[in-house]
Amino acid sequence: MVVPPGWCRERPTDEFLPRFATVEQPVELPCIRCGICCSVYQVRISRAEAERIAKYLGIDYWNWVGRYHEPRWPDPASHLIKHDARGCVFLRRDQTDARFSLCGIYDARPDSCRNWNAGILKPACQEGLRRYWQVDVTCDGRMTGSCESLARLELFMRHD
Ligand code: SF4
Ligand code: SF4
Repeated sequence: MVVPPGWCRERPTDEFLPRFATVEQPVELPCIRCGICCSVYQVRISRAEAERIAKYLGIDYWNWVGRYHEPRWPDPASHLIKHDARGCVFLRRDQTDARFSLCGIYDARPDSCRNWNAGILKPACQEGLRRYWQVDVTCDGRMTGSCESLARLELFMRHD
């Protein structure tokens, strides 16, 4: 495999790497759709958001509560979306490629999910890079790994 410039540990100073390099120049990590954030964080939403999701799913609000509200959540003024063994109950694994996940209610997803961005220093995103791309991130935001892993990730990011 041809290794694009800048992505091999042994050649760290080429044109591409600075985009992914240090916290002084914040790295713009695109979402790699690993779904780790949806599996580790449990989302709290307002009643209005629950109603919006219920409408999107074509069910009524109380039906939504029965199916998707975390019953142990103590605040009657809000909802916590239930988790199952994989994380958020709306998280779907891409059937054709296990590296990717999808939100089953993407068009009606909660505001906190809309406002959440990927980041090179976020532990969830780092876990996704590690688990699905075999790429690690150093504490100053550098990606490290084999040349092949880094090249594979770069090709994905360039074409996604
Ligand atoms: S609602 Fe969608 S985006 Fe939000 S945590 Fe669940 S699966 Fe992820
Ligand atoms: S953990 Fe980060 S990269 Fe993975 S889906 Fe969430 S925002 Fe995207």
